[in-house]
Amino acid sequence: MSKKIIIIGSGIAGLASAIRLSTHGYSVVVFESNNYIGGKISEINKNGYRFDTGPSLFTMPKLIDELVKIGYKNPEKKFDYKKIDTTCSYFFDDGVILNAYSQNKRFIDEVSNKLDVDSKITRKYLDYVAFLFKSTNKIFIEKSLHKLSTYLSVKTLFSFLKIPFLSIFKSMNKTNTQRLKNPKLIKIFNRYATYNGSNPFVAPGILNVISHLELNEGVFLPNRGMRSIVDCLYEICIKNGVVFKLGSKVDKIDFLDNKVNGVYSNKEYYSADIIISNIDIHYVYNHLLNKPHYLSRHTKNNRSSSAIIFYWGIKRTFEKLSLHNILFARDYEMEFNEIKSSQNIQSDPTVYINITSKHIATDAPKNSENWFVMINVSHNKGQNWDLLVKNAREKIIKKINSFLNTDIEKFIEYEEYMDPTSIEFKTGSYQGSLYGSSSNDRMSAFLRHPNFTNKIKNLYFCGGTVHPGGGIPLALNSAKIVAKEIISNEKK
Ligand SMILES: Cc1cc2nc3c(=O)[nH]c(=O)nc-3n(C[C@H](O)[C@H](O)[C@H](O)COP(=O)(O)OP(=O)(O)OC[C@H]3O[C@@H](n4cnc5c(N)ncnc54)[C@H](O)[C@@H]3O)c2cc1C
Repeated sequence: MSKKIIIIGSGIAGLASAIRLSTHGYSVVVFESNNYIGGKISEINKNGYRFDTGPSLFTMPKLIDELVKIGYKNPEKKFDYKKIDTTCSYFFDDGVILNAYSQNKRFIDEVSNKLDVDSKITRKYLDYVAFLFKSTNKIFIEKSLHKLSTYLSVKTLFSFLKIPFLSIFKSMNKTNTQRLKNPKLIKIFNRYATYNGSNPFVAPGILNVISHLELNEGVFLPNRGMRSIVDCLYEICIKNGVVFKLGSKVDKIDFLDNKVNGVYSNKEYYSADIIISNIDIHYVYNHLLNKPHYLSRHTKNNRSSSAIIFYWGIKRTFEKLSLHNILFARDYEMEFNEIKSSQNIQSDPTVYINITSKHIATDAPKNSENWFVMINVSHNKGQNWDLLVKNAREKIIKKINSFLNTDIEKFIEYEEYMDPTSIEFKTGSYQGSLYGSSSNDRMSAFLRHPNFTNKIKNLYFCGGTVHPGGGIPLALNSAKIVAKEIISNEKK
């Protein structure tokens, strides 16, 4: 009889693990507390508008292609997406607008035309982030850092020899200032720290690797929006016989003699040979295992940032805007300091606007646009979020009006929002942080919780709060590591 695996949570890493293990002959059941799957990758369909509520930026689509290939074993089956030419439009307070492009020669020319930066400097920087990626991906991202075997290969040895060149001991900002010199270009590259909820003025320079994905490999968009990633993975799971129990919150993991036996959900007991947790690591140790002391000090203390997001149906179109847009704060360092220390919304927030209707016409009514408008804020520390959301809305509107020379409020015909408390409520993310722990210190990238624990047998962890980290590509890699680990342990 096939071994039974219970996966707790149907986030992207839970779905990816389910595909990998069901195709390997395991019998897989996914427990999900919501009445829908996908976790943070969700959507709103209202009044003719469609909004992706969570992730909006799609890189490394090959990780989804890989799952389609594994799941269908049919080369005809494909996940539909396209490469986007203009990856982001950056707006600065002095009126400069700079477009970034998937094709990096075009980006280098744009930087040299708009910012008067020698093309050699930008070229060299893009080569440097490609080097970071090449040096880290195979070891730090695709493998578990918590297994001796990872360290017993020549490839690993070479990766470790490169450590002095990976900017681990300098902040992102310091590295970027030394390499780029131009303040606007530094700001553009510092912003990549926010892709895992960190602060570029303290996070290590190695995180500059994130920009490689966008600027050297390209930005993509699923033809039916981000939510279709989850729909596609779910279809494969169903085809492979994965069972989903929706509205089924797991309340407890049952373990005896340090080996898991099953879970309790809705007062029923379900046995399993193996359990994979795809939920926030805090929640697992604090509530499902009742072992809060198993959490390392590092995992406990450093939360990544959260966000306030407005979903606005805008009954007008704006030529100046593209799919991804950034309206920068004047003083970026001050913004991060205010996010860290403040109980208030930062005085001048950087505003991100994502508009999928620029490419997917059905996402908004004719002559209208679906705006996803986001600012980064601190994770939930008990602030008065009703007040802060009101304050954020005022500041965002003021900023958009001044950058786009408009009165945006009169065009908002549909509105909804999320704040750290609703993010926590809807996705089980501890304190509403978007990416689990932050990378705001030198070693944090290496100190994320492992994908298994030596303290409890047959219990594994995937998703954005464990190794290798938050964001879709890393969460997908966590599923890959977990599946590989389970399969190889079984062979032993
Ligand atoms: C607003 C926002 C913007 C983002 N932008 C981007 C982006 O542009 N690009 C990018 O790559 N990433 C982005 N991210 C991060 C990305 O969404 C996450 O890293 C990734 O989706 C995490 O997936 P996961 O597998 O960890 O599961 P999650 O999505 O965290 O899902 C966990 C699931 O577990 C369920 N669950 C929790 N507790 C229980 C329980 N006790 N029993 C049963 N089920 C339970 C939850 O309901 C949820 O469905 C963003 C996130 C947010 C919120």
